[in-house]
Amino acid sequence: MGLSVNGVFGHVLEKTRKEVASKSSGGMEIILSSLENTQDLQTTLNILAILNELLTVGGGCRTGVFVSKGGTALLLQLLVGSSKDPPANEELMLHIHSLLVKVGLKDRKLGVKARLNGALNVTLNLVKYNLQNHKLLLPCLQVLRVYSSNLVNAVSLGKSGTLEIMFEIIGPFSKKSTTLVALDTLASLLKSGMNARRAVDRGYLPTLLTIYQDWHRNDTRHRHVVIRKSILGCIKNLTNIKLGRKAFIDANGMRILYNTSTVRKCWIKFHFMCTSIGTCQTNDDIETDINKLRPIQMNTRPFDELRAYEYFFREFSENFELHRPIIIPTTPSSLGPQNRRPPQEDLLTPKPDESPLELDSISISKRPEGTSDPDLVCSLGRLVLDAGVNGGSVDGPQDEGGEQAVLEVPDTAALLPLHDPDLYLEMVKSTRSVPAYTEVGYPDYFGHVALNLREPILERVYGVQRMKIFQDIERLIHPSDILDKVVYDLDNQSCPVTDNGESLKFNSKFESGNLRKAIQVRKFEYDLILNSDINSNHYHQWFYFEVGNMRPGVRYRFNIINCEKSNSQFNYGMQVLMYSVQDAINGSPHWVRTGSDICYYKNHFSRSSIAAGGQKGKSYFTLTFTVTFQHKDDVCYFAYHYPYTYSMLKMHLQKLSALRTAQIYYRQDDLCVTLGGNSCPLLTITAMPGSSSNDPISQFRSRPVVFLSARVHPGETNSSWVMKGTLEYLMSCSPQAQSLRESYIFKIIPMLNPDGVINGNHRCSLSGEDLNRQWQNPNAELHPTIYHAKSLLQYLRATGRTPLVFCDYHGHSRKKNVFMYGCSIKETVWQTNVNTSTCDLHEDLGYRTLPKLLSQMAPAFSLSSCSFVVERSKEATARVVVWREIGVQRSYTMESTLCGCDQGKYKGLQIGTSELEEMGAQFCLALLRLKRFTSRLERHNHNSHLLDMETDLIETRSIPNITSPTTYVLEEDEPAFLEEVDYSAESNDEIDPDLEPDLQDNHAPQTPILTQSSAAKTHLTEIEPDSL
Ligand SMILES: [Zn+2]
Repeated sequence: MGLSVNGVFGHVLEKTRKEVASKSSGGMEIILSSLENTQDLQTTLNILAILNELLTVGGGCRTGVFVSKGGTALLLQLLVGSSKDPPANEELMLHIHSLLVKVGLKDRKLGVKARLNGALNVTLNLVKYNLQNHKLLLPCLQVLRVYSSNLVNAVSLGKSGTLEIMFEIIGPFSKKSTTLVALDTLASLLKSGMNARRAVDRGYLPTLLTIYQDWHRNDTRHRHVVIRKSILGCIKNLTNIKLGRKAFIDANGMRILYNTSTVRKCWIKFHFMCTSIGTCQTNDDIETDINKLRPIQMNTRPFDELRAYEYFFREFSENFELHRPIIIPTTPSSLGPQNRRPPQEDLLTPKPDESPLELDSISISKRPEGTSDPDLVCSLGRLVLDAGVNGGSVDGPQDEGGEQAVLEVPDTAALLPLHDPDLYLEMVKSTRSVPAYTEVGYPDYFGHVALNLREPILERVYGVQRMKIFQDIERLIHPSDILDKVVYDLDNQSCPVTDNGESLKFNSKFESGNLRKAIQVRKFEYDLILNSDINSNHYHQWFYFEVGNMRPGVRYRFNIINCEKSNSQFNYGMQVLMYSVQDAINGSPHWVRTGSDICYYKNHFSRSSIAAGGQKGKSYFTLTFTVTFQHKDDVCYFAYHYPYTYSMLKMHLQKLSALRTAQIYYRQDDLCVTLGGNSCPLLTITAMPGSSSNDPISQFRSRPVVFLSARVHPGETNSSWVMKGTLEYLMSCSPQAQSLRESYIFKIIPMLNPDGVINGNHRCSLSGEDLNRQWQNPNAELHPTIYHAKSLLQYLRATGRTPLVFCDYHGHSRKKNVFMYGCSIKETVWQTNVNTSTCDLHEDLGYRTLPKLLSQMAPAFSLSSCSFVVERSKEATARVVVWREIGVQRSYTMESTLCGCDQGKYKGLQIGTSELEEMGAQFCLALLRLKRFTSRLERHNHNSHLLDMETDLIETRSIPNITSPTTYVLEEDEPAFLEEVDYSAESNDEIDPDLEPDLQDNHAPQTPILTQSSAAKTHLTEIEPDSL
């Protein structure tokens, strides 16, 4: 009977199968309904067989239909129902599980549904009692793997003894197919901390290591990399808990994994994470609120409040005819806005020497011709300011002899017209630093002459990162090689206690210096820790320090281990900068790009949640580089980028003011006093009123204003070098420079953040804030430079002199070339793809002219890197605020690379100070050409003419042209390189709260505890600046 019924059903089902195959989901409903209603085992089996066939052939789409019609629940009910009277029919179980495996690919809720239906243990028991029945075991395991991907299921399955069963399966002599599935299941189960603890308690970690070694030993042809990877996955999940890490170390895990991955060079990618930043992420940042893109017509400040700023625009009221040539005071005056403080006398008085250190001072002399003394530098004490009674001059000439060394000063006067060592020392004396520095960095004192050599962007050697990480791991493998000796520590002034001559000497106690601690890890390897910005827990990136007591010809490895940025141009060919005092004395006073084996990678130090801005488990990054010193007894300096101190700026300004001629109007005011008690210079440069014009004074007063600023971010020293180029050009005597001065009145704030620069910050001011995020609502007390700079602009606007151009010079750490960010409503709206009727947005296209001119004139400049999109995250920056609130249409930030260029004349080269200075000069020339377009405006006094002109220039009548250079620029423009090793993996980012302290425990005991030290305020922050 059964046969005939089956025969009938078989016929019916065959027909249905055809219908289902040809038509839509109607057939599936019929099948499921038949399955639900039949009580007959054989019929059920037949239907299941058909379904299996259907879902196999039909692929994902048909499985989707199956799931949507309630097939999953039906299968689970069938599974649980038929398990009630054992023994279960094997064929039935086989069919159900085969189907569930397919369903698992489509139904993300299978695990939850299985638990709610009570199916978890049915499958588990089947596995348990069919360990030798491979045919049934495999599909059941596969289903179990799906179940265990749900964390609640994993806990439940763990309690039911699943771990133990999995370990039985992955043992010796089991089939590879079942082993792999069991390992995957195990890895999922071990994501639960409870299961992980259970596994560690049962001693499974050494078992896993042994299994791993077995597979590694026998898998000589790399056929089973997947299995080895799965075992590693299990081990990794176990080490997410503290107990697991201890068991791992106790079981010699580091050595086992180290040996298995180095002895045979198996280049498995250990990388589990994708670090690239997608477009969608950055798109969120584009401003979509049209009202926030329109200019604000607000008069928030009464003019009476701004009237005080008239003082800074005296050129507009001066009567030049009365006394020419006029002498314009450049010394700071005590006049000015009411809220300037403190009195100037106080500012200029050198601070008494508060240094707790007893330091030798030095004498300075010119070296007799032809002599050479290699031990000279060695015998030098530090270059220390003597701020004593005699006006603080460096100790007098060599007649004192005896203990004091003689310092050779390289003669750079001919090459560096703006540099003067004596003047530099004078400037340093009036510079106020939080730690009250009394020393001076030699490079800043001697001066830097741009290297007349090409410095190519380094080709990165594949495998460097892997090699460096293995060296890091070897610290645990060969602990006897590890010294872990603290050789420099700002937190502990008595360090180092002893000096056996075997360690490098470090120092960073000078202006712009940044190095907090140095640990000699191995004989020729040092871990370095940077200071955070003052009054902040982060922004570790800028470094500038001195190294002495080196051995020549030895490869020293330096690791800066608390960097924060997730990527760096150090991964794309950028080198660090080094300055050798020996070389300087011998006639080569250069900062030189140096270092090999450079890479930048995530390390195993976790940032405390305070330092990570509340985010848990963020890691630090290591910048590693290797250097071989040339000279014995040299003193060398390392820096993130070409240093440019505040004292250097003051020296340059003094030298520049001396370049004044009868034609040049140059005035230096103090805009305000910073929190740290330093003055912020404001320059006014233009041409003296000419006599050629009918009414010279009126021509003078009608010149448009160009407003420039730089160095709001202290770590972006390149912006200061660009600014130096601009200033030198503006003070030069070429006819174009004169023409430029006759065209504009330049208002320039060359350093918006003097305190940050002086104290070696990377990003912030003394208030611990990023000053370029304060422009919307600057506080006169906390952000004085921004407050007064904005006030100047508000004054200009209120008096009808809104600047023609505003540009804030910056540096960019992750991109190449020099480029600009501007502001355009249309281009912003266009990028968001919001269907706003853009036709009613009238926008002058003039903002594109200057970048376009620069791309034609300046070799380092790249138009394709420019962007005119207004981002939400940038709404409080100078560029956006000056554009919206002051109404400056040509409001820019100009970003200069820290690395080099990938286009133009300097393609493939790292950038140097001469290229940066050239950029600053070219910016001036571009302004001169811009004048030709804008002066037409004056003559015709009609806006459309200017528009036509500029539109012609930019060659594109329809803006924006999406394929054109102005597409939105991503934060990270570099493609990920091939070497994606990330040995800290994602374990850091998981939930385990005891992760952080334990990672440090695993590190050698004497190394610094980063989470603690960065959470604690630096010793610098504990010293209150007296003006605060
Ligand atoms: Zn910046």
